[in-house]
Amino acid sequence: MSLNPKRTVAELKELRALTSDDNGAQRVAWTDTWLKAREWFKSKLKGLPVEQHFDAAGNGWVTLPGASEKALLLGGHLDSVPNGGWLDGALDEMAGLEVLRRFATEFNGKPPVTIRLVDWADEEGARFGRSLLGSSAFAGTHSIEADRKRTDKDGIRMEDALRRCGVEIDRFPEAEREQKNAAAYLELHIEQGPVLESMQLPLGVVLGTKGVERHAITFLGQEAHSGSTPMQARRDALAAASKLALEIRAIAGKHPDAVCTIGSVKTFPGIVTAVVGRCEAALDQRDLDAGVLATMYREAKEASERFAREEKCTVEWSRIWNIEPIAFHPALIERCEQAIRETAGAVHKLPSGPLHDAAEVARAAIPTVMMFVQSLGGISHNKIEDTKEEHLEVSVLALDRLATKTVEWIQAGAAGS
Ligand SMILES: [Zn+2]
Repeated sequence: MSLNPKRTVAELKELRALTSDDNGAQRVAWTDTWLKAREWFKSKLKGLPVEQHFDAAGNGWVTLPGASEKALLLGGHLDSVPNGGWLDGALDEMAGLEVLRRFATEFNGKPPVTIRLVDWADEEGARFGRSLLGSSAFAGTHSIEADRKRTDKDGIRMEDALRRCGVEIDRFPEAEREQKNAAAYLELHIEQGPVLESMQLPLGVVLGTKGVERHAITFLGQEAHSGSTPMQARRDALAAASKLALEIRAIAGKHPDAVCTIGSVKTFPGIVTAVVGRCEAALDQRDLDAGVLATMYREAKEASERFAREEKCTVEWSRIWNIEPIAFHPALIERCEQAIRETAGAVHKLPSGPLHDAAEVARAAIPTVMMFVQSLGGISHNKIEDTKEEHLEVSVLALDRLATKTVEWIQAGAAGS
């Protein structure tokens, strides 16, 4: 067998040396360092019987044509956040390349189905605040008008930064053409959380990505002098918000994978000599199940109304953003589970809290699954992000096995069933 997981680890270190500084990885999309990473990646394709091109959204596609036009897609992203880790996105891409090499060798350059490796453009949204940019263009879920106006912290317009890299935002819809013949999509990723490490398991099957309900909640009371206003006469907006901040733990606690966070609270007038008259809080709720998400939203809203009454305040809600949960494909979840059992032994199934390009691909109705490999300390988007080398190697083996099982599934004509 030509699969060489040690080569993947060596290449990841090579990429780290080329595109990191003392503060971590600097492969921010649409910057010179990112372009350098892409050039380096291209150099790795020499001698492989593949075609390479970039689509209208800047996603890089490497195609190994097979006996059938039906294609197995493998994906990752070479871009990073500023001061990022060496594995987030890059592991997926380099492991995918190793699997593609194995198919090319084993089948003398002509695997039974076409194998395509995609490097999604701007997964992180680090510079312009728009995550999953390239994959949403592929899936047809992007919003050109909203994105066009975005600027980075130096005031450079997104449209101009993309043009410098040869990408015209108006042509984004053309990226949807790449969906043609796509029969399945696989993505390996570091977990970026502590679950697998706490269970002492190297690998897990990702069931899907959690949906998000994000709301601004404003409690209104009465600003009053903090010296002259008796406690029982106060209409303290922060008191009501504080009760809610504690209550969301109980609301999330009823469901095994649900999370609720109040990550921001602003008080007005915000001085030590005044009772808080207005308090603006931001609530983020996530779960894989749309029903659970809806229940948590309703419960948080009811609780906020109760606490507002208790504190003689009123409360208003307005939605900041929401996204539906995306469940991955049952047949591929099953094969991913088998692949992990065969390479690493025990397996755990878990949802993903962070969004990934895989969610956009699944939204385009392409059967999709993801595999997670353990993250040390659960840390990511940080230069200390790390995974044991033995776990990286077993993740490449498991992805390869999953790819073989998925090719058989595609050949059996089960795609979409
Ligand atoms: Zn990533």
